[in-house]
Amino acid sequence: MIQVRPLLESTLSGVVNALFPDRCFECQCRLAPSSEAALLCDDCADLLPALEMSCPRCGVPMSNGQLCGQCIARPPKWRAAAAVWCYEGLSKALIQRYKFRGELRYERGLLQVMGELGRRYRQSWADVDMVLPVALHPLRRARRGFNQSEPLAMAFAEGLGARCVMTAVERQRHTRHLAYGLSRKERRRVVRRAFSVVEDVRDKHLVLVDDVMTSGATLEALSDALLKAGAASVRLAVLARTPAPHRGS
Ligand SMILES: [Zn+2]
Ligand SMILES: [Zn+2]
Repeated sequence: MIQVRPLLESTLSGVVNALFPDRCFECQCRLAPSSEAALLCDDCADLLPALEMSCPRCGVPMSNGQLCGQCIARPPKWRAAAAVWCYEGLSKALIQRYKFRGELRYERGLLQVMGELGRRYRQSWADVDMVLPVALHPLRRARRGFNQSEPLAMAFAEGLGARCVMTAVERQRHTRHLAYGLSRKERRRVVRRAFSVVEDVRDKHLVLVDDVMTSGATLEALSDALLKAGAASVRLAVLARTPAPHRGS
């Protein structure tokens, strides 16, 4: 008699392996089966651009770990920013692959990284009441199929030991379209009005989570909206931070 079950099981695991091959994202070598949610082999993991020294306020890489010139000249609305990597090279490739193709294997690995970042801040950010994902416009969310900052916010909140609130902020307008051709000041106003705070954030210490922080314009607008709604403070946590500061642009 043919053993159907083992055959079926091996076929299934073959399909699963084909869909989610445990291979290094960079060099495609096979990863050890024990490595949980690994994205890279040990050699390639060394290539990730870790963000070791950065401006404590905006997270931009700074070799001395001091406040950057931008934050001294024009302090941002948020209190502090935490990031795992610089957004370049391998970290950029990984995040883009996850964000635009929604590949679950990469999600698992990135969530683990975000959880570790939360744990790293457990003591110094112990006053945090709520962790919030950056809301995507409903149209963009529908097009992409998911909002990458939601699972990241959940993982960070779990690591930090704080509550994650998914629906604290709603995004009203498709800002990129509306902001096209406007001056910097007008654009900021449009972006700020794009968010409406629907959760009671009064006197709460908040963390906003996103995958990447580039110009910071959206995060600044969102921080502004939350502070106007009575939040006590806003901090940021992202997977990666662009190397050069272009805040407000
Ligand atoms: Zn590798
Ligand atoms: Zn700074």
